[in-house]
Amino acid sequence: MSNPPPRPSHSSGIVRLLVLFFIGVAAVAAWRYEIHPPIRPEAGWVPPHPSNRWTCIVIHHSGSDAGGADRFDEWHRKRGWDELGYHFVIGNGTDTAMGQVEVGPRWTEQKHGAHTKTDDEYYNQHGIGICLVGNFDKYPPNPKQMESLARLVKYLCRQYHIPVSHIYTHGGITHKTDCPGKYFDLAKLKRMVER
Ligand SMILES: [Zn+2]
Repeated sequence: MSNPPPRPSHSSGIVRLLVLFFIGVAAVAAWRYEIHPPIRPEAGWVPPHPSNRWTCIVIHHSGSDAGGADRFDEWHRKRGWDELGYHFVIGNGTDTAMGQVEVGPRWTEQKHGAHTKTDDEYYNQHGIGICLVGNFDKYPPNPKQMESLARLVKYLCRQYHIPVSHIYTHGGITHKTDCPGKYFDLAKLKRMVER
């Protein structure tokens, strides 16, 4: 009497499928890591209690040839605001180093901005305000400033799930100013953030 041939096991088929599935997931994760390596945040970029209020990013220039967070803080207080209106300031080698990212107290506290006035205050409530020192009506931002900006914006987009389509300029929102100046190239920034 011969033994019946072994029947193909149902459960081993499932195990094989699961193994293939996990290999696939790992391959996609590795590929994504290769294309989009994580950005290591600088000190101060990670607030102690991150908020989920942020839905967009608004870019500004200072309109001045020189400056930094301390100087703008002074200017903004003179205008009657409680403190520096932006969340971040990117230096141009005057008050701070070229491309240096300064973190404002509003970011640390995850507090609303004071940089983009609209009737409903949406962009101050939900927009991360970043100011580049310089007057981009007269000259373009320094490449090092653009690199720092792209790195910061890329980090913020990933961390707060902000799509690239939600990166705006001040003037693009209000149409009442040409901030951050005619030489600021938003399309270029978006390309840098996407690559
Ligand atoms: Zn502005």
